[in-house]
Amino acid sequence: MSREAWRVAEEIRAGADPSRHVEEVLERIERWEGAVKAFISLDLPEALRERAERLERKIRKGERVGKLAGLLVSVKDNICTSWLPTTAGSRMLEGYVSPYNATAVERVLQEDAIIVGKTNLDEFAMGSTTELSAFWPTRNPWDLERVPGGSSGGSAASLAYGGADLSLGSDTGGSARLPAAYTATVGLKPTYGLVSRYGLIPYGNSLEQISPMARSVRDVALLLEVIGGWDPKDATALRVERPRLDPSPAEPRALRLCLVKEMVEGAEEPIEKLFWNTIHKLSSEGAQLEELSIPLLSKALPAYYTIAFAEASSNLARYAGIFYPTKGSSGSWEKYVGEARARGFGREVKRRILMGVYALSEGFRDEFYVAATKVRRAIRDEVLKVVKRCVIAAQASPILPPKIGERLDDPLKLYYMDMYTVIANLAGVPALVQPLGFSQGLPIGIQWMAGPLEESKLISLGLLVEELTGIKGAMAE
Ligand code: GLN
Repeated sequence: MSREAWRVAEEIRAGADPSRHVEEVLERIERWEGAVKAFISLDLPEALRERAERLERKIRKGERVGKLAGLLVSVKDNICTSWLPTTAGSRMLEGYVSPYNATAVERVLQEDAIIVGKTNLDEFAMGSTTELSAFWPTRNPWDLERVPGGSSGGSAASLAYGGADLSLGSDTGGSARLPAAYTATVGLKPTYGLVSRYGLIPYGNSLEQISPMARSVRDVALLLEVIGGWDPKDATALRVERPRLDPSPAEPRALRLCLVKEMVEGAEEPIEKLFWNTIHKLSSEGAQLEELSIPLLSKALPAYYTIAFAEASSNLARYAGIFYPTKGSSGSWEKYVGEARARGFGREVKRRILMGVYALSEGFRDEFYVAATKVRRAIRDEVLKVVKRCVIAAQASPILPPKIGERLDDPLKLYYMDMYTVIANLAGVPALVQPLGFSQGLPIGIQWMAGPLEESKLISLGLLVEELTGIKGAMAE
């Protein structure tokens, strides 16, 4: 079953039975889900079978059949669906069912995909391991003692064990890419504004994008083609057509890769080794390399976290025990709201609200929030200059997937894991993470970054790298 998703969809469009594919995926879920716990909610098997039958009838009648025909898609549980609950991994929203679908969900359904369920995440997408979910940690299918990365860890894990063909994740500071690196899957954070955020529960609005995830580069491209492009329901959506991505690998001799010191150095030894092997291979095939340094990037993590916390503190103000499931009991307004929040929010979310409010408060605003936005602007300018002339080759994670519980004693240990990924969010540029190989059975990924709306460059480079590594569609067994 490790065929690529685009191929499965083509076979179904050509007449293969979609019900058979649903049964294959249900078998994988049956076998793995108990141990991995990737999903917060799963649709009923009968409902999935019924969708496959409906599609089958459509095909027989010769009606138009969509690009994702019969593919099973998992959706991160901070993306709204009208028929399955959307919790954002928080007690605050436990049992909440949205009155509408996110635009990305609508588009996936229009292309005849079948949504299999909603995947686990760190509460409100705040975290790097999926351990901060209010429900349970998700495990990494490649090593059940380890985390799958976060915050889209449930999406990545569902792909890695074959419980879905494609997944919708979200990426505010690396949440689709870090899990991709830890599970040998592919995650693409699109250019800011390319994918509608309508129906994405906001964490850091100015940074985040719904992000396609899959087991191969071509599959990620397919999903981006479906969800990308202008949406009148999102005021920050760019006025661009749906992207069309050419599925042919890059020509190495036409490639120029920039190695920015701050995005390359500082990773554990097995990661460094595989990274440089790949770069040298590309260079021996004719790619040109340029090494440079952007010293300002040492400020990327503090700038990212200051902005993300500030935006989070404003976004989470809507949870006051009124419109959403977790309520306070009676008493004064302060007591009522305080109780709802004490009950509904986890420790890390509370920490971020407090720090965000502080960074925005009178007297400290200039020193923290405003300063961070200036650093962001300067980083964006520097990155844009570089991606004008080359694709940036970067690490995805400084460390191999850690053991469950290993990094929970100090929040800084979690923040540190995002050192290479937050840069693309600050700059608003697209970034792709794909697998390079394994060290002691643990996946290692690489990250590529291009200029705004240059997703096609990332895809064709990704396809070339798949040819070099031979890794495509890997699934844990
Ligand atoms: N780990 C980062 C954070 O906690 C990024 C999360 C994300 O991309 N949603 O903010």
